[in-house]
Amino acid sequence: MMLQTNLDRAATLKFPSQAVINGKLVGAKTGKTFANIGPRDGKPLNQVAEGDAADIDAAVAAARAAFEDGRWRNKHPREKKRIMFKLAELMERDLEELALLETLDMGKPISDTRAIDIPTAINSIRWYAEALDKVYGEVATTPVERLSYVVREPLGVVGAIVPWNFPLHMACWKVAPALAMGNSIVLKPAEQSPSTALKLGQLALEAGVPDGVLNVVPGLGEGAGQALARHMDVDLIAFTGSGEVGRKLMSYSGESNLKRVALELGGKSPQIVFADAENLDAAAEAAAWGIFFNQGEICNAASRLLVEEKIKDAFLAKVIEKSGKYMPGDPLDPRSVAGAIVSEGQMRRVMGYVGKAQAEGATLALGGKQVRTESGGYYIEPTVFDKVANTHTLAREEVFGPVLGVISFKTEEEAVKLANDTVYGLASGLWTANISRAHRVSRQLRAGLVWINGWDACDITVPFGGAKQSGFGRDRSLHALEKYTELKGISITYA
Ligand code: NDP
Repeated sequence: MMLQTNLDRAATLKFPSQAVINGKLVGAKTGKTFANIGPRDGKPLNQVAEGDAADIDAAVAAARAAFEDGRWRNKHPREKKRIMFKLAELMERDLEELALLETLDMGKPISDTRAIDIPTAINSIRWYAEALDKVYGEVATTPVERLSYVVREPLGVVGAIVPWNFPLHMACWKVAPALAMGNSIVLKPAEQSPSTALKLGQLALEAGVPDGVLNVVPGLGEGAGQALARHMDVDLIAFTGSGEVGRKLMSYSGESNLKRVALELGGKSPQIVFADAENLDAAAEAAAWGIFFNQGEICNAASRLLVEEKIKDAFLAKVIEKSGKYMPGDPLDPRSVAGAIVSEGQMRRVMGYVGKAQAEGATLALGGKQVRTESGGYYIEPTVFDKVANTHTLAREEVFGPVLGVISFKTEEEAVKLANDTVYGLASGLWTANISRAHRVSRQLRAGLVWINGWDACDITVPFGGAKQSGFGRDRSLHALEKYTELKGISITYA
């Protein structure tokens, strides 16, 4: 589809603006709204209901009532599956609309929202629908006069708080397994990107998800988000976002009802390139993609590139050559490979890190500037710093933007030490043709994910989540079901 066609469609697009609570589309009880700003041109897209504690109360009450009367949890598994498949079908029907909403809300290229974000979200719904009747309980090895069995039961009311970098995709990583296990949900999307979550709530109703089972309350983090996380009748907060908010969620839990908290936080993920890598061109491609995909606004961004010293200069030249295609363009232009940064605040934050890297002595090898300023939107060119020390702020803190730091090493031991010298532990990667080294190093890396000779080899079948301050709990795969269920042991003693 051409840019003009996308512009025409965007001009007539209807942005969802109301919360979805107990099967109804409603405004905030206070009547308040907030402006949803489009990062493509810095202009408001629409006004959205600003939910707060009263709206969260209503949504949690609806979710609890739905859970208690079993309208979803006790449905025949075949029926739950049919409804979730229907939801996936409706998302596919509205894929173009969802892709446009996501691109305009968040600034990412339309080619990505069409080919990656929305299809991945749909796949999550389908995958967990397929899984829901394939999870078995256990029979324990008890003395012969007793039978003990272990079942997984839904937790109850799940609060899902999601970020703006993959709005629908992250929402579905949580909503799909939570629904599949029979829970009721209150979803709080990020203020920067509420549209697709609200649309998901509407489509769920159309698909036949009963009223009150999936509620979506837009609002601000300190308002609706905090009220949800402090609520006395929420059983779990499933969160993706910053470590700063992750810490608050744990305090809120301690200060309220000790609800469970599952955190998928950020990273400072290392990609290690050894001189013996078989295909340095592919490694350079992955180095660029690993940091510039999604404008670098990705928790598992390969933001630290560790390169063996003897190939560093030649390899850096290759990375710089591959980085050119990530020069941002109009997110609505199907030819754009990179788009806008999500907000003015995030753009300033990223530019702050660029300034700090220079001040601390790293060498700017590419980019470093805002571009497309005439659009009114928020764009930063792909930026690469050479001669970064692992002690520099650029190597320690999550930038969440298109900024790569290159660090060189001499030995395998030093590479592993540098890779692990971070408070984070989400993803990591290495390039080598030596199979012993590949296995040895991958076992030494402290991270939830290790990719060998590739980056972001993601699949719904493989758990996603981190070690150390990258959080705990896993999204994706059957392991994700664990956090949405309670284990119950039942024992029958024979007469
Ligand atoms: P946040 O962690 O602040 O936001 C994530 C979600 O948490 C949003 O829905 C937000 O709501 C909500 N939230 C914010 N404050 C609270 C609170 N007190 N109680 C409950 N919920 C709350 O991320 P930001 O959007 O501010 O981004 C800041 C930095 O965080 C980024 O630069 C990046 O480093 C990191 N980040 C990491 C992500 C990841 O995938 N790991 C994703 C996004 C950001 P609202 O947005 O409406 O305020």
